Amino acid sequence: MVDVATNLSNIEENIRQACENVNRDPEDIHLIAVTKYVTIERTKEAINAGINNLGENRNEGFLEKYNEIQNQVQWHFIGSLQSRKVKDIINQVDFIHSLDRLSLAKEINKRAAHPVNCFIQVNVSGEESKHGISPEEVITFIEQLSIYENIKVVGLMTMAPHVDDPENVRPVFKKLKNLRDDVTKKSLPHAPCKWLSMGMSNDYHIAIEEGATHVRIGSKLVG
Ligand SMILES: *Cc1c(COP(=O)(O)O)cnc(C)c1O
Repeated sequence: MVDVATNLSNIEENIRQACENVNRDPEDIHLIAVTKYVTIERTKEAINAGINNLGENRNEGFLEKYNEIQNQVQWHFIGSLQSRKVKDIINQVDFIHSLDRLSLAKEINKRAAHPVNCFIQVNVSGEESKHGISPEEVITFIEQLSIYENIKVVGLMTMAPHVDDPENVRPVFKKLKNLRDDVTKKSLPHAPCKWLSMGMSNDYHIAIEEGATHVRIGSKLVG
């Protein structure tokens, strides 16, 4: 396996390049290392290489790593979250990327000891296998969240379909950005919604060109 530091410097170079293409500041890109496929040792290697944001998509994997690593990093929960499991993780994570239904918001609100930073997951591509709310429902959904004092909407998140040529998913990223702009225009106190969580190993350079602020990279970074 290639060491994380080498992968990281390649990815940082690609991030710089993508930012340069569209005149963005690389400082505005948050790189989240997705460690769901790898061991705690490999995860620690990533931290030693300079990673300070980790993403996990299942409660078990998250808790296993959190118990060892604690608050040395910021923790991003990126997978679909079952309501009955919210209480096990909600006060350990820093960001949830997968808020997609009111019943989940209600449970987060009830179990959290303080406001939680949430990305709303949007199913932009309309693939049936994907979680997330439909683009048409985003504004109404976010407006409905205002009653939950422990939900802070920091941005939108999407997973693009897997395709051979990532150019083909550019429209998905564009659409999420437009939706984000529609939300920020509303100036809702509970939903500053400044951020865009989009882009994975195969398409993060395109996502950055289209406005991503948080990229979630697993296989090309840590394996
Ligand atoms: C696994 C996963 C990633 C990372 O995928 P790679 O293609 O390995 O970079 C990003 N986001 C989510 C939601 C994931 O489940």
